[in-house]
Amino acid sequence: MGIGSAVLAANSINRILAEVINPQTLVIGNIRYGMIHDETRCIGCRACILACHKVNQVPAEVTRLDILDNVTYRELNKNSRQFVRKSCQHCDNPPCVEVCPTGASYKDPKTGIVDVHHDRCVGCRYCIAACPYHVRFIHPLSKTADKCNFCRDTNLAAGKPPACVAICPMKALTFGNLDDPDSDIAKLIASKTVYRNKLYLGTSPKLYHIAGKFGEIRG
Ligand code: SF4
Ligand code: SF4
Repeated sequence: MGIGSAVLAANSINRILAEVINPQTLVIGNIRYGMIHDETRCIGCRACILACHKVNQVPAEVTRLDILDNVTYRELNKNSRQFVRKSCQHCDNPPCVEVCPTGASYKDPKTGIVDVHHDRCVGCRYCIAACPYHVRFIHPLSKTADKCNFCRDTNLAAGKPPACVAICPMKALTFGNLDDPDSDIAKLIASKTVYRNKLYLGTSPKLYHIAGKFGEIRG
């Protein structure tokens, strides 16, 4: 191989590596992003919600994520509170994608992130009705379906973790590649008691929760 061919080959390899190496996890190959919310660490400060609104320019009257006060827990454990994250689960089998008549709702094959092509969305609300986790809404300005996309077009595109993960003062949120056994998220799932919501529906959600100390494990 001549010097010119060698340089061309090296450039091609560098370009391919640049496309598949994720800046967060430095994993080569397919990525299947997920998130864990650690209920034993969360203090309910809602900084994650504010950061999401700011970074993703989400209007105040809607939200891509919520932090819910676990009322049952509070009643059972006097003077103690526990908070539960509610946001898109980035289902591996997403019903919102299946029902979408225009292909606007889709799962990105490179990252496993479920997202919306806003230019294809006609605002029919089928996906909102189909989502068993009740996390989608019509954006008041664009009039298209919207929800958490792990900051795919904002922080992730800039090589940063999702805004909620970056801001959390308690390090209650962990984001990363579920298919990389060396990632922080994979290690947490392997070492902690985790649960996911509504597994029985077959949606295969990728939002995990580390249950609070006295919490029940929900399937
Ligand atoms: Fe909980 Fe962290 Fe969100 Fe605060 S920023 S509510 S501690 S997850
Ligand atoms: Fe779709 Fe709802 Fe699953 Fe998110 S949680 S991927 S919006 S079905």
